[in-house]
Amino acid sequence: MTLHNLDNLYRQAVMEHAKYPHHHAPVTEKDKHQIQKFNPTCGDMISLAVTVDDDRIIDCHFDGDGCAIAIASCSMMTDIMIGKTISQSQELMRMFSAMTMGENINFDAIGEAQLLAGVTKFPTRIKCATLSWHALDDLLAHY
Ligand code: ZN
Repeated sequence: MTLHNLDNLYRQAVMEHAKYPHHHAPVTEKDKHQIQKFNPTCGDMISLAVTVDDDRIIDCHFDGDGCAIAIASCSMMTDIMIGKTISQSQELMRMFSAMTMGENINFDAIGEAQLLAGVTKFPTRIKCATLSWHALDDLLAHY
């Protein structure tokens, strides 16, 4: 795959997730484990809820408002995390964070989220991309 195609693929996948985010549902008081995260540099605000059963993430959903990168990243994150154990998801979060810092990681492990590697070129967007991942990290710290 050429770099040009990768750029196109990146744009398409991000726009698709931003327009039709996966696991986008209201976060209400019924969600026992939830967190709100705000990215002041861009204005992204997300609420993220997670349900863990027997050390495994069985549900993860979010609502909120944000730029295409923040919403797409959250959508991709929920896709990857549901079904993972807490330690697996913490490892994936470390990898995603390292990727946004320009480090070389096992890109296949993080699925579509690897398409967000392009944010390393736009330092102000790194916070948009990592917002939801940090939110999940904070939530899982309670388990
Ligand atoms: Zn943003």
